[in-house]
Amino acid sequence: MAVRIDGKALAAKVKSQVAEEAAKLPRKPGLAVVLVGEDPASQVYVAGKERDCAECGIESFGHRLSAETTEPELLDLIRRLNGDPRVDGILVQLPLPKHLSEETVINAISPDKDVDCFHPFNVGRMVIGDPVFLPCTPAGVMEMLDEYEIPIRGKRCVVLGRSNIVGKPMAALLTQRDGTVTICHSRTEDMAQYAREADILVSAVGRMGLVTADMVKEGAVVVDVAMNRDGDGRLCGDADFAAVEPKASYITPVPGGVGPMTRAMLMRNILTAAALHQA
Ligand code: NAP
Repeated sequence: MAVRIDGKALAAKVKSQVAEEAAKLPRKPGLAVVLVGEDPASQVYVAGKERDCAECGIESFGHRLSAETTEPELLDLIRRLNGDPRVDGILVQLPLPKHLSEETVINAISPDKDVDCFHPFNVGRMVIGDPVFLPCTPAGVMEMLDEYEIPIRGKRCVVLGRSNIVGKPMAALLTQRDGTVTICHSRTEDMAQYAREADILVSAVGRMGLVTADMVKEGAVVVDVAMNRDGDGRLCGDADFAAVEPKASYITPVPGGVGPMTRAMLMRNILTAAALHQA
């Protein structure tokens, strides 16, 4: 039976370290949180991030904009936040309403305030192995693997999903740590054959029940990034947890796995930005 990786406990540890370090800085770190529109899920995520900030001694500056906000208006706000010395990090909650280009908006954020690590400058630095910030979700996964002393060097790692915010950076970080990495996606033929070879299997697709027990090698580490809702509205990952858990050596539960770590790593990135700005 697999060891359950306790993302909630590790996230609490990371956040308390951040709070301790933040208290030593001459000025409180600051995060600007920009939410455009009234998407209920986004509102919940933003509220959670603001709570995390309060817990970590980070000041948050909320900017709730109407769904009708134009791109020039949003870009103007970002320019002001780029120049605001109280703001160390800028977080624009995605997805944005359809009439706004996420790419244009992300590119407008000053790279030294890009605490989500979505800006091409920071993505490039991550890929060449000289990062300022790491993208929160993959960084949270790496932190979990390290906390549980799970070896990566020389191991076969299979990442399901190739999005810019999870799958691709996850593969880059595992590669940097000497994993041998395969990425699978919607066009992969016979994904199960790759998954079965994995010592470390990371699933970031967003399809409930995608990872079945027959896709998991005996003793593999299974990291489930996905956040799906089952028929009863309960949060669940991609893996058929009950069937996969007995085969795996380690597994992340959903909820209580990668989700809390993503939030904790955001706090760490804000601290990093604040330390840079106050150096
Ligand atoms: P995304 O942008 O929708 O990407 C999904 C990826 O899965 C794409 O690369 C897609 O392939 C691939 N895919 C879709 N169907 C597939 C299939 N049947 N077989 C194999 N691959 C398939 O999603 P995302 O933003 O990366 O998020 C992925 C999941 O993680 C979601 O459930 C999301 O809610 C969750 N998430 C969780 C956290 C957290 O903190 N826990 C953070 C971010 C995201 P193509 O590229 O070919 O389309």
